Amino acid sequence: MHEMSVALAVVDQVAEAADRAGNVTAVRSVRLQVGELAGVVPDSLTFCFELACAGTLLEGAELVTEAVPGRAQCTACAHEWAVGMPPRLTCPVCDGTRTDLLSGRELQIVDVRWEADGPAHTPTREPIPEER
Ligand SMILES: [Zn+2]
Repeated sequence: MHEMSVALAVVDQVAEAADRAGNVTAVRSVRLQVGELAGVVPDSLTFCFELACAGTLLEGAELVTEAVPGRAQCTACAHEWAVGMPPRLTCPVCDGTRTDLLSGRELQIVDVRWEADGPAHTPTREPIPEER
């Protein structure tokens, strides 16, 4: 299941960042940007995240997903449109098939809230690595 590997990667990354910070006692919430075209179902990801957190420092943490709409731009006429779902990847203006995807493939931790023993340090934005 794709969502499970994404959930495990998120847990891994947050646990590693918490480890580097050194004084984290609990993780409250993780905010994740999920692109419309990332191939991840947010509800399913939330469910997998709960399972992946069990027995780790993240146990009980809340996953907040932020949907990022897919947008594409036509190389020929520079028209920009929302690709929607299922994605439309041919230009609605000139029917061009050479398009650049501007957004929608995001899968990125944008914020982590945790409790720390001492000064809290917030990890920086880190993309989730593609599936191996
Ligand atoms: Zn076009």
